[in-house]
Amino acid sequence: MKIASFQHAGVPLLGLVSADGRQVRPLPSECMREDGLLGLVSALASGAELPQAGPPLQIEDVQLLAPFSRMRRNLWCVGRNYHEHAKELAGSVFRASQDKGWPIVFTKPPECVVGPHADVMLPVGISDEIDYEAELAVVIGRGGRGITRADAMKHVFGYTIVNDVTARDVQMRHQQWDLGKSFDGFCPMGPWVATADELDGRATRVRCWVNGELRQDGHTADMIFDIPTLIETISRGITLHPGDIIATGTPAGVGMGMKPPRWLRRGDVVRIEVDGIGTFENRFT
Ligand code: MG
Repeated sequence: MKIASFQHAGVPLLGLVSADGRQVRPLPSECMREDGLLGLVSALASGAELPQAGPPLQIEDVQLLAPFSRMRRNLWCVGRNYHEHAKELAGSVFRASQDKGWPIVFTKPPECVVGPHADVMLPVGISDEIDYEAELAVVIGRGGRGITRADAMKHVFGYTIVNDVTARDVQMRHQQWDLGKSFDGFCPMGPWVATADELDGRATRVRCWVNGELRQDGHTADMIFDIPTLIETISRGITLHPGDIIATGTPAGVGMGMKPPRWLRRGDVVRIEVDGIGTFENRFT
């Protein structure tokens, strides 16, 4: 199933999206009051029954929100995790810790998450090098620590999509990546969460268009560190909890990888699609 957060007649709600994505059946309003989707994921992960959904609303009559209105903590994010993308950035200053067999992991704070159709404000005067990164994001269901590769997929509740928006000049200026990736609005998320039975995140297509021009067209099978490895690595000494999110890295085709680089400008529209989940677009203003 696909679970969306949305607003209808001024009321924030959770709901189940139809297979064709054209309708949404609202869940009882208490679901949204109790931590929104974070609360529902936690409840379902511990065996609770899904509440009864109401009669369908047309999707164009609701305003989709970021799936998680409240998050448990920062998103876990993975840097340079597709073979082709690593090649396009091979000349950059990024250190290749993955050459030693470990993924690059950083975080983005919940405050930078915005909805799937929100405008994203360019940080004018702070950065001139704003880039997009289309990514599949894993939503953890059952938590745990020391999760093995073999067990990892049992801990996946589902998937959503994020744009790991990045100020490249700020990212490179500081040894840690967090500042350049955490400006307000730098994590559009949506359009909803698709549960793990809807798709195999290890084998799906990730695409991104800027103003209608296809820029990224990758496949998650091209990841350097696959989803089970990422879950195993992050949970080695840190307990993962229901609702934790792992953005798994971006495929080739970012603006920085082009010669010359092509940065986002005011008015640009970035559309991201992941097969099996859906699509959304944001305008940069
Ligand atoms: Mg990224």
